[in-house]
Amino acid sequence: MNKICPACNQGKIIRKKVIIPVGRKSFTTEADVCDACGAYRHTPSLQLEIDRWGEAFNKSFIEIQPNLSDVVHEFIDSESKKYSINRTELIRLFTVFYLNVARNYSGFKDIDQIVKNCEATTLLINREKKTISVPIRYRTFKLINRASKVLERNAAQVMEEAVNFCVTLKHTHDATELKQIIAKLDQFIENHALAS
Ligand SMILES: [Zn+2]
Repeated sequence: MNKICPACNQGKIIRKKVIIPVGRKSFTTEADVCDACGAYRHTPSLQLEIDRWGEAFNKSFIEIQPNLSDVVHEFIDSESKKYSINRTELIRLFTVFYLNVARNYSGFKDIDQIVKNCEATTLLINREKKTISVPIRYRTFKLINRASKVLERNAAQVMEEAVNFCVTLKHTHDATELKQIIAKLDQFIENHALAS
């Protein structure tokens, strides 16, 4: 006895192969799919299957290409040497810090406003830009993908925003309101640089 599809109220639910886009990759599996409209339920167990598959790409799941100004590139060069990590590692740390720490910070809105209004922002952003390819792991992809939906920006834009935010922070030592979050950023990079 076949169930009727709740999405179209016509098709029958059958077990069949589905191809699910995940970033620029596709995950293929078998699921209960409507034979008329193709709808299937994105169940927790399906998500678990996708996560296991994504986690298995141990080094890089996808590459993201943020477009960054020449000043930002120079800053990343010198800063990554200081911590003895490579440039893409620093960009990943900036991204994770911005999404996991900064945006959850109490008073983030005010901080963001200061950063956006500060001179360094103009200095850093309105300049000649070039892209850099940043390989990311699946779990960072998931983090960026979530932010992408909330912020209504694509993955590269989310990364650009994160990097420009962190670089501007590091350029703005004089604003007292930012001292705490700058210290947090420094600590965050140091901890991860030691671990890598
Ligand atoms: Zn259907």
